[in-house]
Amino acid sequence: PVSRAGHLLDDLNPAQRRAVEHAGSPLLVVAGAGSGKTRVLTRRIAYLLAARDVHPGEIMAITFTNKAAAEMKERVADMVGARARSMWVSTFHSMCVRVMRREAKTLGMSSNFSIYDSDDTRRLITLVARDLDLDPKKYAARTLAVHVSNLKNELVDPETAAAQAANDLERRVAEVYAVYQRRLNESNSLDFDDLIMRTVELLQTFPDVAEHYRRRFRHVLVDEYQDTNHAQYTLVRELVGKAGGEIPPAELCVVGDADQSIYAFRGATIRNIVEFERDYPEATTILLEQNYRSTQNILTAANAVISRNPNRRDKSLWSDLGEGEKIVGYVADNEHDEAAFVANEIDRLVDGGEVNNSEIAVFYRTNNQSRVFEEIFIRLGLPYRVVGGVRFYERREVRDALAYLRTLANPDDTVSLRRILNVPKRGIGERAEACVSAYAERERISFAAALRDLDRVPMLNPRSRNAIAGFVEMMDELGEMVAREDDVADILEAVLEKSGYRTELEASEDPQDHTRVENLNELVTVAREFTELELPEGAEPVPSLPAFLERVSLVADADSIPDAESDGVVTLMTIHTAKGLEYPVVFSTGWEDGVFPHMRALGDPAELAEERRLAYVGITRAQRRLYLSRALVRSAWGQPSANPASRFLGEIPQDLIDWRRVEPSRSAPAAATTWGRSASGGIASRGLSRPAPGKAGWKDAPAMKLEVGDRVTHDKYGLGRVVAVDGAGLRATATIDFGGSGTVRLMLIGSVPMTKL
Ligand code: ATP
Ligand code: MG
Repeated sequence: PVSRAGHLLDDLNPAQRRAVEHAGSPLLVVAGAGSGKTRVLTRRIAYLLAARDVHPGEIMAITFTNKAAAEMKERVADMVGARARSMWVSTFHSMCVRVMRREAKTLGMSSNFSIYDSDDTRRLITLVARDLDLDPKKYAARTLAVHVSNLKNELVDPETAAAQAANDLERRVAEVYAVYQRRLNESNSLDFDDLIMRTVELLQTFPDVAEHYRRRFRHVLVDEYQDTNHAQYTLVRELVGKAGGEIPPAELCVVGDADQSIYAFRGATIRNIVEFERDYPEATTILLEQNYRSTQNILTAANAVISRNPNRRDKSLWSDLGEGEKIVGYVADNEHDEAAFVANEIDRLVDGGEVNNSEIAVFYRTNNQSRVFEEIFIRLGLPYRVVGGVRFYERREVRDALAYLRTLANPDDTVSLRRILNVPKRGIGERAEACVSAYAERERISFAAALRDLDRVPMLNPRSRNAIAGFVEMMDELGEMVAREDDVADILEAVLEKSGYRTELEASEDPQDHTRVENLNELVTVAREFTELELPEGAEPVPSLPAFLERVSLVADADSIPDAESDGVVTLMTIHTAKGLEYPVVFSTGWEDGVFPHMRALGDPAELAEERRLAYVGITRAQRRLYLSRALVRSAWGQPSANPASRFLGEIPQDLIDWRRVEPSRSAPAAATTWGRSASGGIASRGLSRPAPGKAGWKDAPAMKLEVGDRVTHDKYGLGRVVAVDGAGLRATATIDFGGSGTVRLMLIGSVPMTKL
């Protein structure tokens, strides 16, 4: 069989090959960024199938995002063919959903449970805290949610939390946790952390269930092991099983890099990777040292930064891709200037034919930093996509529509039900809702059940009673479609019609509401496409409503990353989201103390070390060209503030950096003072030492002068009429009605791809 699989080893180095061929004892592959850890994992799966006659159904592989899972599956399928399909390759969460759907009854739940995301969680915790009369100023729902989440990640149950509580806050948290957990149960719902915690509980409490999975999965593989938390760690242990039992333990292979652990705030702990050999005494460890991703200059910079972290195991990572280009540094006047520099460089690189848009990524520390880039990219007609931020599925109208679907799939899902009870307004006020809720609480029945028992709910006025009865009737009608297993797209259409949701938005004067209608139509399209998806061979058809909801609730930030070649767009994202990815050209922005490292980390060595790992992750995403920039002045919360250079910048050997623009000397007039007040020129025209060759630059064009009533034509939106003009100079904007393309607000600095008619 090995000859059959020989080609799977050809393009691996000796250490990688050993990792792929290793059999038996638990295996840990530790190595720096870009050394082929993920490649080893994927190859190992292919090798198990091709050379070791492992059945694909015996393989469980865990990745950090659903997208990474899909890619891994695809790669393996490329290597060994369609039989790769019956492997389980997924994130921890998706894997647990799958287990829990099968085994829900064992835990006394029904298998149509809802999955609460962080927003639902916060809503429920707010309700709980209110019921417990907690002062919201002292105990913010967000804070309580974080504490409850931490307890779950540590597998601490409410009773233990109460017993351990050592101060007032901890006692309150334990109290909230207990009620919250009871409400979740009553709603037949699980939050994200429960998915893991309850699966662990399942495996630990029911030996026959654990045995079933241990018999089935003979190979467990985990990517990005440094970002597992205690619950996930325990889950892996339970799946693998112990030596000496009836079933020998599964073969375990984990890969990771302690220097890239960046999710401590979600309970991730490098302990899991550092102590692997203690957890699994038989373990074999393989180190990889060659980096295949980046040029040497980029690697040297990354190594220099990370070497400042205390208590780490030093690694010697090298590349034979040559020194490559120097890193480009840029000090901008302000965040607009920084964005203009990035846009200008992208223009230059793409124009020169060196790269295309999809090979370029722009990174920042926090999601809110994307806006400035978006504005300038829109103005220039530079196609881009933001990954993360306020995502499609987090928009209010989308969440409302999904709440209807979730209520239909699981009537006990109280958070969803209460969300839509009076949306759109149908005369069920807060007081009526509170009456029903109190009744449900007293009778220990679900909110949905209480709605059907109106005659016995005290204090309800006849108007509310009628309104509720109408709502129940509507939901029953929709429920019939669900019972018939109609397509989810048709159910969604019916929801939007019967509820009056769409009609209300369409009748609204608010332009935002029109965007909302478009988003809902988009959701219908998503549902339609989902319904029409081809089923993999041998898969059993499932009713599309629950399957659709599950898909939607597990979409993670990184899952909306465009497929490189197909889209031709620049990618904007936070460094956290970029983990595991690589791009030929990377612009890493906002290198300022207080921004990156984050303000929070400045006085805290542990947090600072985490930020430094983040810097290491950011730098090592770049393959050929890396840009590092900072702004002298940046607006935060509407206030411009001057930030010093990020300390991480100073940790990079300066001879590796080609500074295109440095901080102006103090005697020169501070560039930043003109910002926000200058009436002409525009930020983009300042501070660029090398304008793009050829192309009559947008950079030098004066602001466009427009008045209300002017007619324009825009490259992207077509013909339009100006309906409003606001601000002056840098802040000049025009609101333009482009008819079918909608009403758009554009900034007028530099040249917009638009002509006045
Ligand atoms: P990260 O720590 O960022 O997750 P990683 O260790 O998982 O990185 P990979 O993404 O697997 O690294 O590999 C980095 C790049 O190097 C990929 O483009 C991969 O295809 C390539 N690569 C890895 N090993 C080899 C090899 N032996 N020969 C050629 N290219 C390789
Ligand atoms: Mg990787």
